[in-house]
Formats: sequence, structure tokens, C-alpha cells
Amino acid sequence: MPSIAERLASVRGQIAEATARAGRSKTDVRLLAVSKTKPVRAIEEAYRAGQRDFGENYAQELAKKARALSHLTDLRWHMIGHLQKNKVKLVVPHASVIHTVDSERLAHELGKRASTGMGPGKALGAFVQVNVAREAGKSGCSVSELAGILEAIESEPGLELEGLMTIPPQTDDPDQALEYFHALRRLRDEYGGVSRLPGLSMGMSHDFVQAIQAGATLVRVGTSIFGPREPQGATR
Ligand SMILES: *Cc1c(COP(=O)(O)O)cnc(C)c1O
Repeated sequence: MPSIAERLASVRGQIAEATARAGRSKTDVRLLAVSKTKPVRAIEEAYRAGQRDFGENYAQELAKKARALSHLTDLRWHMIGHLQKNKVKLVVPHASVIHTVDSERLAHELGKRASTGMGPGKALGAFVQVNVAREAGKSGCSVSELAGILEAIESEPGLELEGLMTIPPQTDDPDQALEYFHALRRLRDEYGGVSRLPGLSMGMSHDFVQAIQAGATLVRVGTSIFGPREPQGATR
């Protein structure tokens, strides 16, 4: 089994290749290492290999790991899982970026907590998660809700609007995800372009190459860095 450092190097290499092929700069794309269900020592190993951005899906788990690793002061936590309003206070003291804002209510709750919970002059980054495929039962807002949520984020001094995020429908063929990645990019262009929405958070282990092709600025990669996860719940 390759080490986490070796896997990270391989993923970084694939990102460099994909950005070059797309005629983009390597520094256009940030790698988020998704560490959900993985132990703290795996995160430390990735950190030693130079990784600084980590993504977690569950509020409690994020808070627990952030406390355990609080000595790594330049490590940035990203919340990438569905966030309930009553879990906001758990996450805000630790997170740098929330990728899953999908309602005006959640934006205002985050804004309220962020303006009191973060250091002076620091804003909490916010991506709006859009359910571009309109899948039933999946999180993310609908396109008709997007304008209101963007305005809600911009009305909160404690929040900084970073862009749009999506999770395409599961498929065995990563090329099928391209359509949804392009759809998110078109929404970005329609709702204010790069100046208002600089970031596109899209692409996971099996489709980050396609996401970069379509304009991703931040890819969320778990399995390709940390190996397969235990069945859900087993290690939480
Ligand atoms: C788990 C997860 C990822 C990482 O998935 P992998 O397939 O392991 O790379 C990325 N984004 C979100 C929202 C996730 O829940």
C-alpha cells in the first residue's frame, strides 16, 4: 500500500496534469483532503506532507478533530457535509470555509455566529451548494433559490461569499459528471461571474480531472489520498 504522502503526491501530479491540459495554472486549483471517518494520525501524516486544507462531513467529528489538532495553527478546516442549523455553533469556531450553505436561514445563522465567533477582521468563507441535477432527497438549493441565498450571504459581514459547490449524481462514468460541472460554471457566469463568485468547489476522487477541465478551483478528494473508508458510521 502506498503511503498517504505518496498518494498525495500522485493526486497533486494528476491535478498539475489536468490544469496543464486545460490551459490553466496549477495554482488555480486548491486541493481539499477529505478526511471524514479517518483518524487524526492520518491527517497529521498528510499535514507533514504539506497538505493544509482538510474537509469533514460531520459537525461533531470536525469539532473533535479540530480540537485534537489545534496546535497545527495553519491547518484549515472545511465543512463539506450537510449542516443543520443547530450544529452551526459547533462548527463555526473551527471552520475556515463552509461549502454547504443551501438556505437563507442557514446563511443568517452562520453569519450571526461567525461575526461573534471568529477573530477580528476574519470572515468565514461560504460556498452555496446547488443541486444542479435536481435530484430528489439530495441536499443543495434549487436554482430558483440561489439569488436569495447569495444575497443573504452578502448581507452578513461575518461571511465572505466564495462561490458555488455541487455534487453530481453518482455514476460509474466520470465523463457523465461533466454536464453538471459545466452547469455549475454556467450558473456562476449567470449570477455575477468570477468577480462575485470566484470559486467552484466540484470534483471528488473519481471525477476531479473532469471537474478541473470544467473550471473547478477547489477539488475535494478523500479516497485517493486516505484509501477507502469503512462503511458509514463504523469509525465515527
Ligand atoms: C466524501 C466526500 C468527498 C470525497 O469523496 P471521495 O470519493 O472519497 O474522494 C467529497 N465531497 C463531499 C461532499 C463528500 O461528502
